[in-house]
Amino acid sequence: MLREDFIPVIVYDGISETIVKKGIPDKHLLGKLPFEVRGFLNTFDTVFISGSCEGGLKKVEEAGLIDEAIFIYLFSEDRNFVKKNLMQVRKNTKYALLPVFSHIETEDKADLLLDGIYRGFSGELVDSAAQIWNILFACDPIVYPENTPEFRKILYIRYLYSRGIEEERPYLNRLSKYAFSWYIAHTFLGVHEEGGEFDELELLRQMRVLQSEIADKTSLCPSCAHYNLIFKEVCPNCRSIRIEIKEFLHHYSCGYIGPIDEFIQGDKLVCPKCHEELKHIGVDYDKTMEQYYCSDCHSSFTEPDISITCANCSKEWKPEDVVTKYVYNYFITPYGKTVAAEGKLPLSLPEEVSKILGTVSYDVFRFFLNKYLGLVKRYPTHRFCLLGITLEINESVYSLQPVKLRKIIKSILEVIRDNLRETDVVSFVENKYILILLAESTDDGVLVVKNRIDKLITQIITKNNVEELIKFTTATVCVPSQEKPSEPEELINKLMQQL
Ligand SMILES: [Zn+2]
Ligand SMILES: [Zn+2]
Ligand SMILES: [Zn+2]
Repeated sequence: MLREDFIPVIVYDGISETIVKKGIPDKHLLGKLPFEVRGFLNTFDTVFISGSCEGGLKKVEEAGLIDEAIFIYLFSEDRNFVKKNLMQVRKNTKYALLPVFSHIETEDKADLLLDGIYRGFSGELVDSAAQIWNILFACDPIVYPENTPEFRKILYIRYLYSRGIEEERPYLNRLSKYAFSWYIAHTFLGVHEEGGEFDELELLRQMRVLQSEIADKTSLCPSCAHYNLIFKEVCPNCRSIRIEIKEFLHHYSCGYIGPIDEFIQGDKLVCPKCHEELKHIGVDYDKTMEQYYCSDCHSSFTEPDISITCANCSKEWKPEDVVTKYVYNYFITPYGKTVAAEGKLPLSLPEEVSKILGTVSYDVFRFFLNKYLGLVKRYPTHRFCLLGITLEINESVYSLQPVKLRKIIKSILEVIRDNLRETDVVSFVENKYILILLAESTDDGVLVVKNRIDKLITQIITKNNVEELIKFTTATVCVPSQEKPSEPEELINKLMQQL
Protein backbone atom coordinates (compact mmCIF):
# COMPACT_ATOMS: atom_id res chain seq x y z
CA MET A 1 0.00 0.00 0.00
CA LEU A 2 1.23 3.47 -0.85
CA ARG A 3 1.66 6.15 1.75
CA GLU A 4 -1.36 8.37 1.88
CA ASP A 5 0.55 11.60 1.62
CA PHE A 6 1.50 10.72 -1.94
CA ILE A 7 -0.36 12.51 -4.67
CA PRO A 8 -2.17 10.96 -7.58
CA VAL A 9 -2.13 13.35 -10.51
CA ILE A 10 -5.50 13.21 -12.21
CA VAL A 11 -5.52 14.41 -15.78
CA TYR A 12 -9.10 15.21 -16.72
CA ASP A 13 -10.29 16.79 -19.95
CA GLY A 14 -13.59 17.91 -18.40
CA ILE A 15 -12.05 20.98 -16.81
CA SER A 16 -10.47 23.79 -18.71
CA GLU A 17 -7.83 25.19 -16.39
CA THR A 18 -4.88 23.43 -14.72
CA ILE A 19 -5.30 23.29 -10.95
CA VAL A 20 -2.31 22.46 -8.81
CA LYS A 21 -3.40 22.47 -5.21
CA LYS A 22 -2.63 20.17 -2.35
CA GLY A 23 -5.83 19.46 -0.43
CA ILE A 24 -9.42 18.51 -1.07
CA PRO A 25 -10.81 20.48 -4.03
CA ASP A 26 -13.28 23.22 -3.17
CA LYS A 27 -17.03 22.72 -3.53
CA HIS A 28 -17.14 24.47 -6.87
CA LEU A 29 -14.63 22.03 -8.40
CA LEU A 30 -16.05 19.01 -6.56
CA GLY A 31 -19.33 19.64 -8.32
CA LYS A 32 -17.58 19.36 -11.67
CA LEU A 33 -15.79 16.09 -10.88
CA PRO A 34 -17.29 12.88 -12.13
CA PHE A 35 -18.14 9.99 -9.80
CA GLU A 36 -15.17 7.83 -10.99
CA VAL A 37 -12.64 10.33 -9.68
CA ARG A 38 -14.19 10.74 -6.22
CA GLY A 39 -12.77 7.40 -5.00
CA PHE A 40 -9.28 8.89 -5.24
CA LEU A 41 -10.40 11.80 -3.05
CA ASN A 42 -11.59 9.45 -0.31
CA THR A 43 -8.32 7.50 -0.22
CA PHE A 44 -5.71 10.19 -0.72
CA ASP A 45 -6.03 13.48 1.12
CA THR A 46 -4.48 15.33 -1.72
CA VAL A 47 -5.15 15.30 -5.40
CA PHE A 48 -3.88 17.36 -8.25
CA ILE A 49 -6.01 17.85 -11.24
CA SER A 50 -4.79 19.19 -14.51
CA GLY A 51 -5.98 19.51 -18.06
CA SER A 52 -2.86 18.32 -19.87
CA CYS A 53 0.29 16.47 -18.82
CA GLU A 54 2.77 18.75 -20.52
CA GLY A 55 1.73 21.96 -18.77
CA GLY A 56 0.24 20.21 -15.77
CA LEU A 57 3.35 18.31 -14.66
CA LYS A 58 5.42 21.42 -15.11
CA LYS A 59 3.15 23.27 -12.71
CA VAL A 60 3.25 20.38 -10.26
CA GLU A 61 7.02 20.57 -10.46
CA GLU A 62 7.05 24.35 -9.99
CA ALA A 63 4.92 23.91 -6.89
CA GLY A 64 7.68 21.62 -5.53
CA LEU A 65 5.38 18.63 -5.43
CA ILE A 66 6.62 16.43 -8.27
CA ASP A 67 8.49 14.08 -5.90
CA GLU A 68 5.22 13.29 -4.18
CA ALA A 69 3.42 12.43 -7.42
CA ILE A 70 2.84 8.71 -7.23
CA PHE A 71 0.90 7.97 -10.37
CA ILE A 72 -1.02 9.62 -13.16
CA TYR A 73 -4.60 8.78 -13.95
CA LEU A 74 -5.78 9.82 -17.40
CA PHE A 75 -9.49 10.42 -17.15
CA SER A 76 -11.10 10.92 -20.54
CA GLU A 77 -13.34 9.19 -23.06
CA ASP A 78 -11.17 10.55 -25.86
CA ARG A 79 -8.51 8.04 -27.04
CA ASN A 80 -6.41 10.75 -28.63
CA PHE A 81 -6.40 12.73 -25.40
CA VAL A 82 -5.22 9.65 -23.51
CA LYS A 83 -2.56 8.78 -26.09
CA LYS A 84 -1.24 12.34 -26.37
CA ASN A 85 -0.86 12.73 -22.61
CA LEU A 86 0.61 9.27 -22.18
CA MET A 87 3.30 10.02 -24.78
CA GLN A 88 4.08 13.33 -23.07
CA VAL A 89 4.87 11.46 -19.87
CA ARG A 90 6.87 8.62 -21.41
CA LYS A 91 8.98 10.86 -23.64
CA ASN A 92 9.85 13.23 -20.80
CA THR A 93 13.08 12.08 -19.15
CA LYS A 94 11.93 13.53 -15.79
CA TYR A 95 8.66 11.62 -15.48
CA ALA A 96 9.06 8.76 -17.94
CA LEU A 97 8.88 5.99 -15.34
CA LEU A 98 5.82 7.26 -13.40
CA PRO A 99 3.03 4.68 -13.30
CA VAL A 100 0.30 5.81 -15.70
CA PHE A 101 -3.23 4.43 -15.69
CA SER A 102 -6.14 5.37 -17.86
CA HIS A 103 -9.89 5.23 -17.99
CA ILE A 104 -9.98 3.72 -21.48
CA GLU A 105 -7.69 1.86 -23.89
CA THR A 106 -5.96 3.80 -26.62
CA GLU A 107 -6.63 0.82 -28.96
CA ASP A 108 -3.17 1.38 -30.31
CA LYS A 109 0.41 0.24 -29.61
CA ALA A 110 0.44 3.06 -27.04
CA ASP A 111 -1.33 0.62 -24.68
CA LEU A 112 2.15 -0.92 -24.22
CA LEU A 113 3.06 2.25 -22.35
CA LEU A 114 0.09 2.09 -19.96
CA ASP A 115 0.31 0.43 -16.57
CA GLY A 116 -3.34 -0.48 -16.52
CA ILE A 117 -6.85 0.46 -17.55
CA TYR A 118 -9.35 1.09 -14.77
CA ARG A 119 -12.81 2.53 -15.18
CA GLY A 120 -12.34 4.52 -12.01
CA PHE A 121 -10.66 4.36 -8.62
CA SER A 122 -9.75 0.82 -7.56
CA GLY A 123 -7.57 -0.78 -4.89
CA GLU A 124 -6.03 -2.90 -7.61
CA LEU A 125 -4.79 0.23 -9.36
CA VAL A 126 -3.15 1.43 -6.15
CA ASP A 127 -1.54 -2.02 -5.59
CA SER A 128 -0.24 -2.04 -9.12
CA ALA A 129 1.37 1.40 -8.65
CA ALA A 130 2.85 0.22 -5.33
CA GLN A 131 4.38 -2.83 -7.03
CA ILE A 132 6.10 -0.62 -9.63
CA TRP A 133 7.37 1.73 -6.93
CA ASN A 134 8.74 -1.15 -4.88
CA ILE A 135 11.04 -1.91 -7.79
CA LEU A 136 11.84 1.74 -8.63
CA PHE A 137 12.63 2.63 -5.00
CA ALA A 138 15.16 -0.21 -4.89
CA CYS A 139 16.99 1.13 -7.97
CA ASP A 140 20.05 3.36 -7.70
CA PRO A 141 19.97 6.85 -9.22
CA ILE A 142 20.95 6.93 -12.90
CA VAL A 143 24.58 8.07 -13.09
CA TYR A 144 24.36 9.85 -16.46
CA PRO A 145 23.22 13.42 -17.12
CA GLU A 146 19.61 13.68 -18.29
CA ASN A 147 19.04 13.67 -22.05
CA THR A 148 22.25 11.79 -22.83
CA PRO A 149 21.79 8.63 -24.91
CA GLU A 150 23.09 6.63 -21.91
CA PHE A 151 20.44 8.10 -19.60
CA ARG A 152 17.73 7.19 -22.08
CA LYS A 153 19.05 3.66 -22.49
CA ILE A 154 18.80 3.15 -18.72
CA LEU A 155 15.25 4.60 -18.71
CA TYR A 156 14.29 2.12 -21.41
CA ILE A 157 15.62 -1.00 -19.68
CA ARG A 158 14.42 0.26 -16.31
CA TYR A 159 10.92 0.61 -17.75
CA LEU A 160 11.03 -3.00 -19.01
CA TYR A 161 12.46 -4.18 -15.68
CA SER A 162 10.04 -2.30 -13.41
CA ARG A 163 7.03 -3.45 -15.45
CA GLY A 164 8.15 -7.06 -15.76
CA ILE A 165 8.25 -6.78 -19.56
CA GLU A 166 10.61 -9.53 -20.70
CA GLU A 167 10.41 -9.10 -24.44
CA GLU A 168 10.05 -6.46 -27.13
CA ARG A 169 8.95 -7.51 -30.61
CA PRO A 170 9.26 -5.54 -33.86
CA TYR A 171 6.17 -4.51 -35.83
CA LEU A 172 5.81 -3.44 -39.46
CA ASN A 173 6.07 0.32 -39.80
CA ARG A 174 6.18 1.93 -43.23
CA LEU A 175 7.75 5.08 -41.78
CA SER A 176 10.79 3.20 -40.46
CA LYS A 177 13.80 3.01 -42.77
CA TYR A 178 14.05 -0.71 -41.91
CA ALA A 179 10.26 -1.22 -42.36
CA PHE A 180 10.19 -2.34 -38.71
CA SER A 181 10.00 -0.50 -35.41
CA TRP A 182 10.13 -1.37 -31.72
CA TYR A 183 7.47 0.70 -30.00
CA ILE A 184 8.69 0.94 -26.40
CA ALA A 185 12.32 1.38 -27.42
CA HIS A 186 11.42 4.13 -29.89
CA THR A 187 9.46 6.03 -27.24
CA PHE A 188 12.08 5.85 -24.49
CA LEU A 189 15.32 6.04 -26.45
CA GLY A 190 14.43 9.44 -27.91
CA VAL A 191 15.67 8.60 -31.42
CA HIS A 192 14.40 11.03 -34.01
CA GLU A 193 14.46 8.81 -37.06
CA GLU A 194 11.74 6.15 -37.26
CA GLY A 195 13.45 2.79 -36.90
CA GLY A 196 16.58 4.45 -35.47
CA GLU A 197 15.98 2.46 -32.28
CA PHE A 198 17.20 -0.67 -34.11
CA ASP A 199 20.83 0.52 -33.96
CA GLU A 200 20.44 1.41 -30.27
CA LEU A 201 18.92 -1.99 -29.48
CA GLU A 202 21.85 -3.65 -31.24
CA LEU A 203 24.26 -1.70 -29.03
CA LEU A 204 22.39 -2.89 -25.94
CA ARG A 205 22.63 -6.43 -27.27
CA GLN A 206 26.42 -6.06 -27.75
CA MET A 207 26.61 -4.93 -24.12
CA ARG A 208 24.74 -8.16 -23.18
CA VAL A 209 21.96 -6.10 -21.60
CA LEU A 210 19.59 -7.59 -24.17
CA GLN A 211 19.65 -10.84 -26.08
CA SER A 212 17.88 -11.46 -29.35
CA GLU A 213 16.21 -14.05 -31.54
CA ILE A 214 15.45 -13.69 -35.24
CA ALA A 215 11.95 -12.34 -35.82
CA ASP A 216 11.90 -11.39 -39.50
CA LYS A 217 13.95 -10.20 -42.44
CA THR A 218 14.07 -6.93 -44.34
CA SER A 219 15.59 -5.91 -47.70
CA LEU A 220 17.58 -2.69 -47.87
CA CYS A 221 19.12 -0.46 -50.51
CA PRO A 222 22.91 -1.06 -50.50
CA SER A 223 23.54 2.67 -50.84
CA CYS A 224 21.20 4.40 -48.38
CA ALA A 225 20.06 1.38 -46.29
CA HIS A 226 16.40 2.22 -46.82
CA TYR A 227 13.75 -0.47 -47.34
CA ASN A 228 11.68 1.38 -49.97
CA LEU A 229 12.59 -0.73 -53.00
CA ILE A 230 10.52 -1.03 -56.17
CA PHE A 231 10.88 -4.34 -58.01
CA LYS A 232 10.34 -4.11 -61.77
CA GLU A 233 10.38 -6.70 -64.56
CA VAL A 234 12.39 -5.34 -67.50
CA CYS A 235 13.50 -6.43 -70.97
CA PRO A 236 16.88 -8.25 -70.67
CA ASN A 237 17.87 -6.78 -74.04
CA CYS A 238 17.11 -3.03 -73.72
CA ARG A 239 16.00 -2.71 -70.01
CA SER A 240 12.62 -1.27 -71.11
CA ILE A 241 9.68 -1.67 -68.75
CA ARG A 242 7.25 -1.86 -71.71
CA ILE A 243 7.08 -5.63 -71.73
CA GLU A 244 4.06 -7.91 -71.62
CA ILE A 245 3.22 -11.59 -71.78
CA LYS A 246 1.87 -12.56 -75.17
CA GLU A 247 0.67 -15.65 -76.94
CA PHE A 248 3.01 -16.52 -79.83
CA LEU A 249 2.13 -18.30 -83.06
CA HIS A 250 4.40 -20.44 -85.19
CA HIS A 251 3.65 -20.51 -88.94
CA TYR A 252 4.77 -23.95 -90.15
CA SER A 253 5.32 -23.27 -93.87
CA CYS A 254 7.62 -20.24 -93.53
CA GLY A 255 8.83 -20.89 -89.95
CA TYR A 256 7.92 -17.40 -88.66
CA ILE A 257 7.24 -17.09 -84.90
CA GLY A 258 5.69 -13.90 -83.53
CA PRO A 259 3.12 -12.51 -81.09
CA ILE A 260 -0.50 -13.24 -82.04
CA ASP A 261 -1.45 -9.58 -82.60
CA GLU A 262 0.97 -9.40 -85.54
CA PHE A 263 -1.15 -12.09 -87.26
CA ILE A 264 -4.60 -10.62 -86.61
CA GLN A 265 -6.17 -8.93 -89.63
CA GLY A 266 -9.88 -8.33 -89.05
CA ASP A 267 -11.32 -11.74 -88.24
CA LYS A 268 -8.50 -13.64 -89.97
CA LEU A 269 -5.01 -14.72 -89.02
CA VAL A 270 -2.42 -13.74 -91.66
CA CYS A 271 1.32 -14.38 -91.45
CA PRO A 272 3.14 -11.00 -91.37
CA LYS A 273 6.16 -12.54 -93.09
CA CYS A 274 4.76 -14.54 -96.02
CA HIS A 275 1.20 -13.08 -96.03
CA GLU A 276 -0.38 -16.56 -96.20
CA GLU A 277 -3.59 -17.05 -94.23
CA LEU A 278 -3.44 -19.37 -91.20
CA LYS A 279 -6.52 -21.56 -91.13
CA HIS A 280 -6.15 -24.72 -89.10
CA ILE A 281 -4.34 -24.95 -85.80
CA GLY A 282 -2.07 -28.00 -85.74
CA VAL A 283 -2.03 -28.09 -89.56
CA ASP A 284 -0.97 -24.57 -90.70
CA TYR A 285 0.27 -23.21 -87.44
CA ASP A 286 0.72 -23.83 -83.72
CA LYS A 287 0.60 -21.83 -80.52
CA THR A 288 3.97 -21.74 -78.76
CA MET A 289 4.52 -21.13 -75.06
CA GLU A 290 3.54 -17.71 -73.73
CA GLN A 291 6.47 -15.36 -73.94
CA TYR A 292 7.38 -11.87 -72.90
CA TYR A 293 7.50 -9.35 -75.68
CA CYS A 294 9.26 -5.98 -75.56
CA SER A 295 7.40 -3.30 -77.48
CA ASP A 296 10.51 -1.08 -77.58
CA CYS A 297 13.11 -3.42 -79.09
CA HIS A 298 10.64 -6.13 -80.28
CA SER A 299 12.62 -8.94 -78.72
CA SER A 300 10.87 -11.83 -77.02
CA PHE A 301 12.09 -13.83 -74.05
CA THR A 302 10.81 -16.30 -71.46
CA GLU A 303 12.31 -14.70 -68.31
CA PRO A 304 12.44 -10.93 -67.79
CA ASP A 305 15.23 -9.37 -65.74
CA ILE A 306 14.40 -7.86 -62.36
CA SER A 307 15.45 -4.28 -61.82
CA ILE A 308 15.21 -2.65 -58.40
CA THR A 309 14.86 1.09 -57.85
CA CYS A 310 15.32 2.63 -54.43
CA ALA A 311 12.45 5.06 -53.84
CA ASN A 312 14.59 6.90 -51.32
CA CYS A 313 17.83 7.58 -53.23
CA SER A 314 16.66 6.73 -56.82
CA LYS A 315 19.58 4.36 -57.48
CA GLU A 316 19.06 1.20 -59.55
CA TRP A 317 20.12 -2.26 -58.43
CA LYS A 318 20.11 -5.90 -59.37
CA PRO A 319 18.44 -8.41 -57.03
CA GLU A 320 21.82 -9.75 -55.85
CA ASP A 321 22.88 -6.22 -54.73
CA VAL A 322 20.06 -5.87 -52.21
CA VAL A 323 21.14 -6.15 -48.57
CA THR A 324 19.02 -8.48 -46.51
CA LYS A 325 19.06 -7.90 -42.79
CA TYR A 326 17.50 -9.84 -39.95
CA VAL A 327 15.35 -8.03 -37.41
CA TYR A 328 15.00 -9.37 -33.90
CA ASN A 329 12.84 -9.90 -30.85
CA TYR A 330 14.79 -8.56 -27.89
CA PHE A 331 14.79 -9.98 -24.36
CA ILE A 332 16.19 -8.37 -21.25
CA THR A 333 18.94 -10.57 -19.77
CA PRO A 334 19.47 -11.23 -16.04
CA TYR A 335 22.59 -9.06 -16.36
CA GLY A 336 20.40 -6.39 -18.05
CA LYS A 337 18.16 -6.33 -14.97
CA THR A 338 21.20 -5.64 -12.78
CA VAL A 339 22.23 -2.83 -15.13
CA ALA A 340 18.67 -1.43 -14.96
CA ALA A 341 18.76 -1.43 -11.17
CA GLU A 342 22.29 -0.03 -10.88
CA GLY A 343 21.65 2.75 -13.39
CA LYS A 344 24.92 2.44 -15.31
CA LEU A 345 25.78 0.70 -18.54
CA PRO A 346 28.79 -1.55 -19.06
CA LEU A 347 31.55 0.12 -21.03
CA SER A 348 31.71 -0.88 -24.65
CA LEU A 349 35.28 0.01 -25.59
CA PRO A 350 34.94 -1.23 -29.21
CA GLU A 351 31.90 1.06 -29.60
CA GLU A 352 33.75 4.11 -28.24
CA VAL A 353 36.82 3.39 -30.37
CA SER A 354 34.81 2.85 -33.52
CA LYS A 355 32.74 6.03 -32.94
CA ILE A 356 35.79 8.25 -32.65
CA LEU A 357 38.44 6.54 -34.78
CA GLY A 358 36.27 4.88 -37.43
CA THR A 359 37.62 1.35 -37.24
CA VAL A 360 37.57 -1.48 -39.77
CA SER A 361 37.36 -5.16 -38.89
CA TYR A 362 40.58 -7.11 -38.43
CA ASP A 363 39.96 -8.95 -41.72
CA VAL A 364 39.76 -5.68 -43.62
CA PHE A 365 42.84 -4.38 -41.79
CA ARG A 366 44.77 -7.54 -42.72
CA PHE A 367 43.63 -7.13 -46.33
CA PHE A 368 45.08 -3.58 -46.48
CA LEU A 369 48.26 -4.72 -44.78
CA ASN A 370 48.72 -7.49 -47.31
CA LYS A 371 48.19 -5.03 -50.19
CA TYR A 372 50.79 -2.63 -48.76
CA LEU A 373 53.32 -5.42 -48.22
CA GLY A 374 52.86 -6.42 -51.88
CA LEU A 375 53.26 -2.81 -52.97
CA VAL A 376 56.48 -2.34 -51.00
CA LYS A 377 57.93 -5.57 -52.37
CA ARG A 378 57.23 -4.49 -55.92
CA TYR A 379 58.15 -0.83 -55.62
CA PRO A 380 61.00 -0.39 -53.11
CA THR A 381 60.51 3.38 -52.92
CA HIS A 382 57.13 2.88 -51.18
CA ARG A 383 56.99 2.42 -47.44
CA PHE A 384 54.58 2.31 -44.54
CA CYS A 385 54.50 1.97 -40.76
CA LEU A 386 52.32 0.33 -38.15
CA LEU A 387 51.51 2.09 -34.91
CA GLY A 388 50.14 -0.08 -32.11
CA ILE A 389 48.43 1.32 -29.01
CA THR A 390 47.33 -0.70 -25.99
CA LEU A 391 44.34 0.76 -24.21
CA GLU A 392 43.23 -1.48 -21.39
CA ILE A 393 40.54 -0.41 -18.95
CA ASN A 394 40.05 -1.98 -15.56
CA GLU A 395 36.31 -2.71 -15.90
CA SER A 396 35.60 -3.32 -12.23
CA VAL A 397 36.83 0.14 -11.36
CA TYR A 398 35.07 1.57 -14.39
CA SER A 399 31.70 0.68 -12.92
CA LEU A 400 32.39 2.97 -9.95
CA GLN A 401 32.84 6.11 -12.04
CA PRO A 402 31.31 5.42 -15.44
CA VAL A 403 30.67 9.03 -16.45
CA LYS A 404 34.11 10.32 -15.49
CA LEU A 405 35.93 7.39 -17.08
CA ARG A 406 33.94 7.59 -20.29
CA LYS A 407 34.96 11.26 -20.61
CA ILE A 408 38.63 10.40 -20.07
CA ILE A 409 38.49 7.59 -22.63
CA LYS A 410 36.85 9.97 -25.06
CA SER A 411 39.60 12.57 -24.71
CA ILE A 412 42.29 9.87 -25.10
CA LEU A 413 40.69 8.64 -28.31
CA GLU A 414 40.37 12.21 -29.58
CA VAL A 415 44.12 12.72 -29.11
CA ILE A 416 44.75 9.65 -31.27
CA ARG A 417 42.24 10.79 -33.88
CA ASP A 418 43.72 14.29 -34.10
CA ASN A 419 47.15 12.82 -34.84
CA LEU A 420 46.03 10.55 -37.67
CA ARG A 421 45.44 11.29 -41.33
CA GLU A 422 42.25 10.44 -43.24
CA THR A 423 44.09 7.72 -45.16
CA ASP A 424 45.26 5.82 -42.06
CA VAL A 425 43.50 2.49 -41.47
CA VAL A 426 42.49 1.66 -37.88
CA SER A 427 41.36 -1.61 -36.30
CA PHE A 428 40.59 -2.56 -32.70
CA VAL A 429 41.36 -6.12 -31.62
CA GLU A 430 41.09 -8.25 -28.47
CA ASN A 431 39.29 -5.40 -26.71
CA LYS A 432 42.57 -3.59 -26.04
CA TYR A 433 44.84 -3.18 -29.09
CA ILE A 434 44.41 -0.27 -31.50
CA LEU A 435 46.27 -1.10 -34.72
CA ILE A 436 46.98 1.75 -37.14
CA LEU A 437 48.42 1.46 -40.63
CA LEU A 438 50.11 4.70 -41.71
CA ALA A 439 50.62 4.61 -45.46
CA GLU A 440 53.65 6.37 -47.01
CA SER A 441 55.03 7.15 -43.58
CA THR A 442 58.75 7.26 -42.69
CA ASP A 443 60.44 5.89 -39.56
CA ASP A 444 61.02 9.43 -38.33
CA GLY A 445 57.50 10.55 -39.19
CA VAL A 446 55.83 7.74 -37.23
CA LEU A 447 58.08 8.38 -34.23
CA VAL A 448 56.96 12.00 -34.15
CA VAL A 449 53.32 10.85 -34.14
CA LYS A 450 54.04 8.19 -31.47
CA ASN A 451 55.86 10.60 -29.16
CA ARG A 452 53.16 13.24 -29.46
CA ILE A 453 50.42 10.72 -28.65
CA ASP A 454 52.51 9.32 -25.75
CA LYS A 455 53.00 12.75 -24.27
CA LEU A 456 49.41 13.99 -24.57
CA ILE A 457 47.80 10.78 -23.33
CA THR A 458 50.18 10.46 -20.39
CA GLN A 459 49.20 14.02 -19.48
CA ILE A 460 45.49 13.13 -19.52
CA ILE A 461 46.07 10.01 -17.41
CA THR A 462 48.22 11.78 -14.83
CA LYS A 463 45.99 14.83 -14.62
CA ASN A 464 42.99 12.62 -13.83
CA ASN A 465 44.86 10.27 -11.47
CA VAL A 466 43.80 7.14 -13.33
CA GLU A 467 47.21 5.43 -13.72
CA GLU A 468 45.79 2.38 -11.95
CA LEU A 469 42.68 2.17 -14.12
CA ILE A 470 44.01 2.66 -17.64
CA LYS A 471 46.96 0.75 -19.04
CA PHE A 472 48.46 2.56 -22.02
CA THR A 473 51.50 1.72 -24.20
CA THR A 474 52.57 2.40 -27.79
CA ALA A 475 54.91 0.74 -30.31
CA THR A 476 55.85 1.07 -33.99
CA VAL A 477 57.10 -1.13 -36.83
CA CYS A 478 58.15 0.19 -40.23
CA VAL A 479 58.44 -1.52 -43.63
CA PRO A 480 60.84 -1.96 -45.33
CA SER A 481 63.31 -2.75 -42.56
CA GLN A 482 66.39 -4.97 -42.18
CA GLU A 483 64.34 -7.97 -41.02
CA LYS A 484 61.86 -7.68 -43.92
CA PRO A 485 58.76 -9.52 -42.62
CA SER A 486 56.74 -10.74 -45.58
CA GLU A 487 53.47 -11.82 -44.03
CA PRO A 488 50.88 -9.59 -42.32
CA GLU A 489 50.88 -11.88 -39.24
CA GLU A 490 54.65 -11.67 -38.84
CA LEU A 491 54.45 -7.90 -38.89
CA ILE A 492 51.62 -7.73 -36.37
CA ASN A 493 53.39 -10.19 -34.05
CA LYS A 494 56.49 -8.04 -34.18
CA LEU A 495 54.41 -5.04 -33.17
CA MET A 496 52.51 -6.90 -30.41
CA GLN A 497 55.77 -8.11 -28.82
CA GLN A 498 56.68 -4.50 -28.11
CA LEU A 499 53.30 -3.58 -26.62
ZN1 LIG B 1 13.63 -4.43 -75.18
ZN1 LIG C 1 4.50 -17.33 -92.90
ZN1 LIG D 1 18.69 4.00 -51.64
